[in-house]
Amino acid sequence: MYRIGLGYDIHRLVKNRKLFIGGVQIPSSLGLDGHSDADLLIHSICDSILGALAKGDIGTHFSNTDPKYKNRKSSYFLKRILEIMKKEGYKIENIDSVLICQKPKLSKHRIKIIKSLEKILKIPRENISVKATTKEGLDSIGNNLAIACKCVVLISK
Ligand code: ZN
Repeated sequence: MYRIGLGYDIHRLVKNRKLFIGGVQIPSSLGLDGHSDADLLIHSICDSILGALAKGDIGTHFSNTDPKYKNRKSSYFLKRILEIMKKEGYKIENIDSVLICQKPKLSKHRIKIIKSLEKILKIPRENISVKATTKEGLDSIGNNLAIACKCVVLISK
């Protein structure tokens, strides 16, 4: 039995925050604003898995006003969601994702991000795809005010 899930996330780029993507700290003068570490790739993966399970989204499970999640590493949420998935008897077949970001250039950090996700997800890197594109200078992402991410996951049991 196969199920597919979609995840989408966007965060504002602000000063005085570190930039975390897929559990990797990326050198950047701006970071993503958010209650947790604002790792939008991990948030998108969380939402795609929950979507495949039809079990709401990351906000349903972890409130963004709860002080216990403040500045929390997003891998914590993903690990909890993987436990929910396993309890239902599912495993991940593959993940495909795309980061939409004007600056910094993310493509050179791709391999590092994939290796980090491999460790968190405990699936081989051949099944993890991370891509990066820009907005060609258009709209809020193109003007470096935000980064967005889309993700799809296939799970099976
Ligand atoms: Zn998010």
